[in-house]
Amino acid sequence: ATQEGFDAEDVEGALEEAGHGPLPVLAVVGRPNVGKSTLVNRILGRREAVVEDRPGVTRDRVTYEAEWAGRRFKVVDTGGWEQDVLGIDASVAAQAEFAIEAADAVVFVVDAAVGATDTDEAVVKLLRRAGKPVVLCANKVDGPSGEADAAMLWSLGLGEPHPVSALHGRGTGDMLDEVLKVLPEAPAQTFGTALGGPRRVALIGRPNVGKSSLLNKTAGEERVVVNEVAGTTRDPVDELIELGGKTWKFVDTAGIRRRVHLTEGADYYASLRTAAALEKAEVAVVLIDVSESISVQDLRIITMAVEAGRALVLAYNKWDTLDDERRFYLEREIERDLVQVQWAPRVNISARTGRHVEKLVPAVETALEGWETRVPTGRLNAFLGEIVAAHPHPVRGGKQPRILFGTQAGTRPPRFVLFASGFLEAGYRRFIERRLREEFGFTGTPLHLSVRVRE
Ligand code: GDP
Ligand code: GDP
Repeated sequence: ATQEGFDAEDVEGALEEAGHGPLPVLAVVGRPNVGKSTLVNRILGRREAVVEDRPGVTRDRVTYEAEWAGRRFKVVDTGGWEQDVLGIDASVAAQAEFAIEAADAVVFVVDAAVGATDTDEAVVKLLRRAGKPVVLCANKVDGPSGEADAAMLWSLGLGEPHPVSALHGRGTGDMLDEVLKVLPEAPAQTFGTALGGPRRVALIGRPNVGKSSLLNKTAGEERVVVNEVAGTTRDPVDELIELGGKTWKFVDTAGIRRRVHLTEGADYYASLRTAAALEKAEVAVVLIDVSESISVQDLRIITMAVEAGRALVLAYNKWDTLDDERRFYLEREIERDLVQVQWAPRVNISARTGRHVEKLVPAVETALEGWETRVPTGRLNAFLGEIVAAHPHPVRGGKQPRILFGTQAGTRPPRFVLFASGFLEAGYRRFIERRLREEFGFTGTPLHLSVRVRE
């Protein structure tokens, strides 16, 4: 069949991008209303060709493909993120942290007319610690009279503030030139996709959920005693553990076993450790402590695993502590907070008593299987044809965007590219993802869906 307006080169380009040659990622961060979304739209111009939806647990992240001076990169739009119950400062910091973690470079947007606020300062701290290249955008400098406001932002200590009017386009070109100077050609290397050897598992979760207890239970009591007696021997970074007749590599167990209790920045370092473990792992086992309410921190850790594109298993630990009342509320919390990761296999365990710990292995195997599933193009398109016929995209502005065809560009996790005659709304993309899961399983794996629109 002819591919309606797309030629072989389009398809190849999309496959290459989705499957092989990932683009560097630029995150645009800042307080609400400083003009992030306006700036992202300005950067994209009309070339809103690829949209990648990465459903998170607490919000969706939208990534666009952009091009400047002949170089392509991705832009993560953090505008439009909802504020959460923690209040605006905490929410901005958390959002910025996610975006910065996933980025190769950052544009930090400040409203020059307002000047630097405490929230801005909080983000600056995160930027310093993350050590990613930063370009400071002094936005809302609509004319020469605003240049002095921009100069005030030298005080943030992030180098030269670039006066910009995202609204009118003033100064955005110069700023983008600056961005290209600091943005690497290709994203940072990750190890998560390397093949061969024992399967790599990251055991993650907030402090005190029972990570080291579970590790001890699975690794056997004996060696733990040895470690404690030895005291000074350095813990191995990764540990090979025999489970269910197979050898598994638990990555970064040193971070679990070494119990550092920092007061200052403890959360930050815990989150760095989690990120480092995820980088090396193929599958994440996230521990949740059922004796306490599911917290924002739990959701953040799950989101990190999903965004890292790892297979996911949710292990509800301390099951021995549950009474009927707590159990009732727990199920409510799961329904309320974790619907977005319903696809992850769930095990209810007790690291203390050993209850159902053996069920972890089949859950991990199922998740890895979903992570590596490949749907043949013919089957995928037969399926897409059916759902598009039965549930067409809603008509918008007199037009009806249609999915023309699709292909799976990669696995680990599965990545799909859909070719469409128009922009597909987020709701519809999510519907497609849901149907893909119903049809093909994909238990325990995030799915990436990108849409390429015929221009
Ligand atoms: P976000 O919350 O950071 O994504 O901010 P938005 O992009 O939604 O912008 C917030 C408000 O600031 C909107 O009303 C924009 O029109 C306005 N705005 C954004 N950039 C500029 C600018 O360069 N100059 C002026 N005067 N207003 C701007
Ligand atoms: P980590 O910080 O995630 O490594 O957590 P630990 O393994 O150090 O566990 C924190 C506390 O929870 C310790 O007091 C453990 O004894 C306790 N704990 C861990 N797993 C369980 C469990 O399954 N049931 C109960 N009742 N307590 C547990």
